[in-house]
Amino acid sequence: MDVSVITTGLRRIFYVVSPNETSFKTLEDVPDYIQAAFPFFTTFIIVEAIVLALQKKNGIRINDGLVSISAGVFSETSKFLLKGVIMFAYIYVYDHWKLFTLPWNSPWTWLICFIGVDFCYYWFHRMAHEVNVIWAAHQVHHSSEEYNFTTALRQSVVQNYTSIVFYLPLALAVPPPMYMVHSQFNLLYQFWIHTEIVHSLGPLEYILNTPSHHRVHHGRNRYCIDKNYGGTLIIWDRLFGTFTPETEEVVYGLTHPVASFDPNYIQWCHYMHILRMTWVTPGLLNKLWVLLKGPGWVPGKSRLGCIEDIPDVHAPAEKYDPGVPAWCNLYCMLHMAITVLHYDHAVRYREEMSAVLMLVLSVHFVYTLTCFGALFDHRNRASLMEFGRCLYCVVAAGYLEVFPPEGALAMSTLLCRAVHFVFVASLLLWGMQSLRHEGFLSTADDRRKPAVTHTQERWESKRSITTATYGSGGHRLNVQSKRE
Ligand SMILES: [Zn+2]
Ligand SMILES: [Zn+2]
Repeated sequence: MDVSVITTGLRRIFYVVSPNETSFKTLEDVPDYIQAAFPFFTTFIIVEAIVLALQKKNGIRINDGLVSISAGVFSETSKFLLKGVIMFAYIYVYDHWKLFTLPWNSPWTWLICFIGVDFCYYWFHRMAHEVNVIWAAHQVHHSSEEYNFTTALRQSVVQNYTSIVFYLPLALAVPPPMYMVHSQFNLLYQFWIHTEIVHSLGPLEYILNTPSHHRVHHGRNRYCIDKNYGGTLIIWDRLFGTFTPETEEVVYGLTHPVASFDPNYIQWCHYMHILRMTWVTPGLLNKLWVLLKGPGWVPGKSRLGCIEDIPDVHAPAEKYDPGVPAWCNLYCMLHMAITVLHYDHAVRYREEMSAVLMLVLSVHFVYTLTCFGALFDHRNRASLMEFGRCLYCVVAAGYLEVFPPEGALAMSTLLCRAVHFVFVASLLLWGMQSLRHEGFLSTADDRRKPAVTHTQERWESKRSITTATYGSGGHRLNVQSKRE
């Protein structure tokens, strides 16, 4: 690979780019910087795992890491289907209501947009923690109890389409291609700060959002709640009084952990919670406040709830981890790699596909990731779900071998055969597992084991409590216990 490709990719991740190379006249000219960064995301994740191993620290948990990547693919799959929708509102405001036109190729426009996007991000992010209905989307990003590069990929589907509202003031002057460039770099920059292997960046800590500042943002210790909202710059937090430095060791995640690896549940659970809370809260105005006040608000409390109502946690804290055998972790890693490569191929050749094929592929990606979550959560029919997935994948891979796609969608025959072989082997594996699970095949060892393991039972009961009382990430209180 050309060295300049690597250095350019690295510079983009750290937002070290010049206005010259990143100013474009039309939206069609703007590169997909996020997709181009996929290989760098993978490399960073592998390097981080190696460094953590060398430092003899806890590495990336396979279940948590893969579920974070799943949420990233979920979020991106919706863009795969609805490309163009995100920019619609921005382009509409720019075309109909712009107050003046900034030249697309001026370094000043570039600088104004850089600061403008980061400023709007600060307010979007702050509101995402302070307004319950916006938090319902943003909590996805905070649902991991780990903090590593995979956590950066844990993104919400809904947030893609709602956060744009906060950037519309920029559309009164900044051309859409310039906004699109900076919105991508703002997001890219936030990838590398999700790590524990970087401690302090010295004087840069005063200006930039850094791993240390963002660790605090992901914390559920009381001192971390509603702090450090910055995207690229930390100056907004210092200006508006939401900054706090990292002092005590951070415990990551939601104040009431989601206790699930189901990517669907992680994406939608807080909306269900809001519906329930709106239903049980008395008074029309109070029902409205459930949506618009902080996630921890209940009638009689201040807008953001009380910090004393949040569990007072300190490291080390117990994490949700039902655990699966090593072979199952390896299996999920292999199939996740196949899914991500397949997804990357699909995005690359999106324009060549029919709407029906795109829809079928999207359903396949969502179902695949749901199966992995079910395996990690020890769901009852997980083996059967995975068996079903392998079955249709064997049929699809066989079809592609006999009738290989042509043109841009063409794939290497060797790769198709290898994938076909993996799915046939997986089908046999899950066929056996399903028969064992359903009691058709059982060894003396299986008969001695209880149907539900102790660990599973313990987390199941925890999950039902969490579901009923699940709070959120800004101020996240145990609402049920408050009512009792
Ligand atoms: Zn946040
Ligand atoms: Zn984050």
